[in-house]
Amino acid sequence: MQAARLECVQCGASFSAQEELYECEECGDGIRVIVDMQGLSYEYLRPRWRERPFRLWRYRELLPVTGEEVSLDEGGTPLVQVRFLRDFAEDVRFFAKNEGLNPTGSFKDRGMTVGVTRAKNLGRTRVICASTGNTSASLAAYASRAGMECIVLVPSGGIAKGKLAQALFNGARVIALDGTFDDAMGNILEVAEALDAYVLNSINPYRLEGQKTAAFEVWEQLGHDVPDWLICPVGNGGNMAAYWKGFEELFRLGAVGRLPRLVGVQADGASPIADAILREEDEIVPVDDPKTVASAIRIGNPANWRKTMRAIRESDGLALKVPDAEILRAQSLLAREEGLFVEPASAASIAGALRLAKEGLFRPGERVVCVCTGHGLKDPDAVLESFPDIPPVEPTVEAIVAAAQGEP
Ligand SMILES: *Cc1c(COP(=O)(O)O)cnc(C)c1O
Ligand SMILES: [Zn+2]
Repeated sequence: MQAARLECVQCGASFSAQEELYECEECGDGIRVIVDMQGLSYEYLRPRWRERPFRLWRYRELLPVTGEEVSLDEGGTPLVQVRFLRDFAEDVRFFAKNEGLNPTGSFKDRGMTVGVTRAKNLGRTRVICASTGNTSASLAAYASRAGMECIVLVPSGGIAKGKLAQALFNGARVIALDGTFDDAMGNILEVAEALDAYVLNSINPYRLEGQKTAAFEVWEQLGHDVPDWLICPVGNGGNMAAYWKGFEELFRLGAVGRLPRLVGVQADGASPIADAILREEDEIVPVDDPKTVASAIRIGNPANWRKTMRAIRESDGLALKVPDAEILRAQSLLAREEGLFVEPASAASIAGALRLAKEGLFRPGERVVCVCTGHGLKDPDAVLESFPDIPPVEPTVEAIVAAAQGEP
């Protein structure tokens, strides 16, 4: 379908959907797509959605692009029970939305399938993004699929090896900046203009349109209901805002009669949004040198802070920040207790759930969804460091059995 129009999230200025806009021309703030829901009702959509596979494009009526999509069959990721968290909150059910099972191993694919389809609609042949890693891995793959040229800007030394390998192998031109993600992001619009490239960072509102489908899936997976709480790691803040947009659209369609409360989780060393919410301030104070082991949320000046802050507040939700030690512990618990291996940033939502469960926030009967944003194989270095080297063992039955039984 077509977008009805574009709208500024701050001043409400309205723009034509034909425009290629990343910032409001009036006030400079973020842009969102307003989907035309005229003539769309739940009764109309329900049978159509049901006859399609449980994948992202099942919800095509609410995705504002036209023509054949650039797709790797993304979405439809599992919602898995996280049982160990129940020990900390009686009669509460916890789930992980396992977004690491998307084609390139993170939720970014939801945004890229729609964003690159939009680039194709516009006749663009070159795409660009700034990235801590997963955005570049995803864009590189979808650009290949679309036959487009791809340029990615990453912080030199700050990108996990798995993600870098994906971007390189998918044929992107990788530019490593002597600076942070925020430095890359600060230059992206001017660089894109000079190179005549289409920007696919999350300031591109079409990305968030793709990402909102995760909310539709959660609603279906919970038996056509929303969770009581949705907990999400927050970097630039696009994903949290996208979930909120998805839930709101379901509400407007009459598919559900209530909305979840949102919890945004940031790492201690990179927490401008959580800080502003905790201090009840209206604006964030950017963090100059963000630090956390969770590289995907190592962001000091988040592009979508206003959208995310508004979503959290409108939902009567909350924000919290967790130290790296809690993130790594949650990552390890999730892998050991449940068999789910996610990257550190993903585990921030589990760390948040654990903290809030211990504080007694959740009530009996509630359902809590933790968004696990990316696959553990993306960033094995962060994990392997915590294990001692494995000494080689003689390839004999005796030596192997002895080693397995923990003898020297
Ligand atoms: C991009 C990313 C995030 C942060 O998402 P935002 O939309 O920037 O808030 C979190 N975890 C992983 C694995 C990511 O790739
Ligand atoms: Zn504006």
